Amino acid sequence: ATPTALLVGTGRGAQLGVLIKGPEVLESTRRIDTVVLDKTGTVTQGAMTLDEAIPADGVSRELLLRLAGAVEDASEHPIARAIATGARQGNSDLPAVSSFQNLEGRGVRGVVEGHDVLVGRPSLLAEHDQPLDESLQRALEAAQARGTTAVAVGWDGRARGLLVVADQLKPTSTQAVAQLKALGLTPVLLTGDNETVARQVAKEVGIDEVIAEVLPADKVDVVARLQGAGRTVAMVGDGVNDAPALAQADLGLAMGTGTDVAMEAADITLVRGDLRAAADAIRLSRRTLRTIK
Ligand code: ADP
Ligand code: MG
Repeated sequence: ATPTALLVGTGRGAQLGVLIKGPEVLESTRRIDTVVLDKTGTVTQGAMTLDEAIPADGVSRELLLRLAGAVEDASEHPIARAIATGARQGNSDLPAVSSFQNLEGRGVRGVVEGHDVLVGRPSLLAEHDQPLDESLQRALEAAQARGTTAVAVGWDGRARGLLVVADQLKPTSTQAVAQLKALGLTPVLLTGDNETVARQVAKEVGIDEVIAEVLPADKVDVVARLQGAGRTVAMVGDGVNDAPALAQADLGLAMGTGTDVAMEAADITLVRGDLRAAADAIRLSRRTLRTIK
């Protein structure tokens, strides 16, 4: 390998909006056969908005938003930001929360106006003996079938409503997936979100393989499991949660629009947060290596 060709490769990468950590990274892209894509913030924009608030019987929409909004206001999660912002539009001041708990990858809990409030995955509420009633369950299934994420809200031992948040696909995701496939790579969608929602998003962008309902700490194990099955894995992610998986992957790619932690763990940063740059980076590395040989 001549150092000059490697430098050309990395220099050209900078022009394409791809920052490559070092020439040795190029070598590891050669054998990649699988690209694991984080859903939120990588394939989708990750800028969620509150679409719908569905209170249970006997609960006012206003109360549902006030209590859920107050707890979520203490979290940085994109779902939490959407709910707190949406709740503020109705009640400009959110009440204080105490005993706040962040239940990583599952939801949040806190005491608001004397109520013990839980907001998160429907399965989280079920685990706390606050299952959805039949009408909330139907609303949940309808939201998931549309590809939107619904979180459940409960307090004082009962499910009290659903909040539906919507995310948008990045406009370039479908094209990027097609480009990755054209390079002979198998895309896999990885997410903590619900299986139905994940399948819907995967279908829209052309991905067949979906690994859903994965807790943040388990993303790294998913990558290791794929590697154990003989696959050589690139992982693209944006979040703090993605960092261990990015480090575990044979090639880690971070969205430049994401967290610093993800970029530090990755081999390559896609400066503009455009997934097409992942295909550009892999194509460029292969071409550079061919030049060297
Ligand atoms: P992703 O893999 O899409 O980035 P996460 O792993 O962060 O998602 O979260 C997985 C699921 O846990 C979410 O889809 C949601 O149901 C639930 N969840 C996580 N954090 C929160 C929160 N702050 N409020 C409500 N629900 C949450
Ligand atoms: Mg993410």
